[in-house]
Amino acid sequence: MQEPTLMRLTTQRQIILEELLKVSSHPTANEVYDMVRKRLPRIGLGTVYRNLELMAETGMILKLEVGGTQKRFDATIQPHYHIRCLECGKVDDIDIAVQQDINEAAAQASQYQILGHHIEFTGLCVDCAGSDQTASIN
Ligand SMILES: [Zn+2]
Ligand SMILES: [Zn+2]
Repeated sequence: MQEPTLMRLTTQRQIILEELLKVSSHPTANEVYDMVRKRLPRIGLGTVYRNLELMAETGMILKLEVGGTQKRFDATIQPHYHIRCLECGKVDDIDIAVQQDINEAAAQASQYQILGHHIEFTGLCVDCAGSDQTASIN
């Protein structure tokens, strides 16, 4: 027999993870809440937020180290890089090889034991680059 509260929490986390796995948009806690609420109508934003933080702490998901004002979450936990649109703020995965040599270089330069690194590319997404030209201010 499982303890009911524990079972409920596990189910919530399971559903949060399932919803997060469905998208590649690196949603904010609010966006995850909107997705999860369709399946768990009575869940609160605070609960979703706490579960996300806990799941990130235990390594089930990633909390992204990207610019912008809101924390974003990612179900892809393998090392990969991100690109962020400076106009609309969307974050995509960018499919280039993870640079292992810069960990070596950083270890030599710092005498730290390097555990990883984050690279965030910034630019304009296809939509924003397009609308920039049509809505030119000058
Ligand atoms: Zn954009
Ligand atoms: Zn990602």
